[in-house]
Amino acid sequence: MNKSRNRQILLAARPHGDPKPSDFDIVEGVVPVPGEGQVLIRNVLASLDPYNRIIMGNADSDQPPIEVGDPMFGFTIAVVEQSNNPAFSPGDHVASMSGWQDYAVSDGSDLRAVDGEKAALSAYLGVLGHTGLTAWVGLTKILDPKSDGTLVVTAAAGAVGSVAAQIGKLRGQRVVGVAGGPVKTRHLLEDLGLDAAVDYKAPDFAEQLARAVPDGIDTVFENVGAFMFEALLPHLNLKSQIVVCGVMSQINRTQAADGPNRMPDLLRAVLYKDLTIRGFSVPDYWDCFPDFLDEVAPWVAEGKMQYAEHVIDGLEAIPAAFPDMFQGRVTGKMIATL
Ligand code: NAP
Repeated sequence: MNKSRNRQILLAARPHGDPKPSDFDIVEGVVPVPGEGQVLIRNVLASLDPYNRIIMGNADSDQPPIEVGDPMFGFTIAVVEQSNNPAFSPGDHVASMSGWQDYAVSDGSDLRAVDGEKAALSAYLGVLGHTGLTAWVGLTKILDPKSDGTLVVTAAAGAVGSVAAQIGKLRGQRVVGVAGGPVKTRHLLEDLGLDAAVDYKAPDFAEQLARAVPDGIDTVFENVGAFMFEALLPHLNLKSQIVVCGVMSQINRTQAADGPNRMPDLLRAVLYKDLTIRGFSVPDYWDCFPDFLDEVAPWVAEGKMQYAEHVIDGLEAIPAAFPDMFQGRVTGKMIATL
């Protein structure tokens, strides 16, 4: 559907803690006109990511925030409407970083062609997009890809975690997923085929975890941090590797963490268990896209990799829906149709 106006979501206020709908404004402007060498794209799908919270500011992150009043940055899938660039034709589908809005112009350098015949367009925001790349990089470039033994993935029913867990399975590891609530743990077992699933919200979380890792933990794909990593720490085997992909439990924090200082326990474990702990930032690995797709796209095409999506209807629905990501109300990749 062509639209005559360009709807945009702007940052209206910096959140303190969890984001809320009033942190966003929706405005309408004119549709931009492509200049020489540029294309006009119309976004059809928008990705909602924890990263969007980080750029709203007042988050304990090294990522610079956008300004209040700026359009919200975000990954999208778009269709090319007009092209003054020989690399693109009207009707082409592309992945872009043009944000939560209907239209944008681009010189093409930030666009990646996607093929809706090979996979659903939404998959290029999730399992075959920046989300899947994040999981693949963590398991391939940060952890030793030849790891065996038990892999634990936290926020395993989430967008990145669900891909990481399945890559681990397909590469032959025993995979344990941790998620909040019985619906999500059932999803991990029945849909994603993990070896065990642990509900961190259950009163017997510690016992469930101990039962799920009888031989200890060899690798961790960490998305949550804080209490979650504290629970895993005693189960780590000698020479365990930990990739810190995200710290979802800390993402809305604006000040130093409360509670006892566990740093001495952590450093003692790092030394005595000979642990390797590494973080990473996926934009440093964009050039891995072809290698990532070489391994993961066939799994998706052959139905060996499942992906859940939480789809919301319309750009106007984004402000009310986005906070759900921080309340455990989302399974899989969060996407808005525009
Ligand atoms: P996601 O996992 O789909 O969504 C967040 C999930 O985290 C929620 O569904 C919830 O699952 C869990 N969660 C939320 N708040 C929590 C809390 N306070 N305590 C414990 N769990 C909480 O999001 P995603 O897009 O896949 O991202 C996962 C992580 O990867 C995020 O931390 C994100 O920042 C990080 N990330 C890092 C990079 C990088 O370059 N390193 C790139 C992309 C994403 P439950 O219901 O199971 O609690």
